[in-house]
Amino acid sequence: MDKRLIGGRLSIVATPIGNLEDITLRALRTFKECDVIYAEDTRVVSKLLARYEIKKPLQRLDAATELKKADEIIARLEAGEKIVFVSDAGTPGISDPGARLVQAVRRSCEALREAGQESCTIEAIPGASALTAALSIAGVDATEFTFLGFLPHKKGRQTAIKRIVGSEIPVVLYESPHRILKLLKELSAVIPQCRVIVARELTKMYEEIITGIPADIAKQLEEKKSARGEFVVIVEPVRV
Ligand code: SAM
Repeated sequence: MDKRLIGGRLSIVATPIGNLEDITLRALRTFKECDVIYAEDTRVVSKLLARYEIKKPLQRLDAATELKKADEIIARLEAGEKIVFVSDAGTPGISDPGARLVQAVRRSCEALREAGQESCTIEAIPGASALTAALSIAGVDATEFTFLGFLPHKKGRQTAIKRIVGSEIPVVLYESPHRILKLLKELSAVIPQCRVIVARELTKMYEEIITGIPADIAKQLEEKKSARGEFVVIVEPVRV
């Protein structure tokens, strides 16, 4: 059931990570009912909207414009508008823009509330995320895990690798096709016998899960020339 609205409403909507069918009924209804959709890339959300025959005004809001656009969104919420934010794929804020927007809007809503004025609502419309999709089929006990997102490319990378080596719980990483082999080789150098699960192209035509020690996975990816696409890497704790 919809909440009673006082002021505007900001809906943070999760979108598919590949398969356009991975969208909830509530997300579609939220799209249909909103005044405007702010998207990390309007071309990406356009494909999803076209698939469900939804037409809405679109605005771009990416990492570079997040704070600037937050002010515009706050003004629109104060005018009572229903606003959606989506990132390119999966759940906004998870290695994606969204957190700074929500923080700015939340602060503004709280300030209004404290001043006894009408305020706005921020709601989550949950759905796909590569993080949870990968864990759900990894066969790893994910009662507890550490999510490090993308490792830093230079400064801080060695510290992050040390965190993986010393972890007593599974560590989940996002990795790009340009760096997946580099990451596997780095892991092989420090924890050659650790068990790694690589989830590639989840929900897409070439979805695959590869498990093994880092050197073997790197070899497989190189041999099959499949170091392409999108990757979630799960590193199991090294048992001593
Ligand atoms: N917000 C997204 C989420 O909730 O998963 C993550 C966005 S982040 C910019 C993109 C990274 O997520 C990719 O580089 C990859 O590591 C991971 N990813 C996204 N889609 C994926 C997929 N279909 N299969 C495997 N990994 C994926």
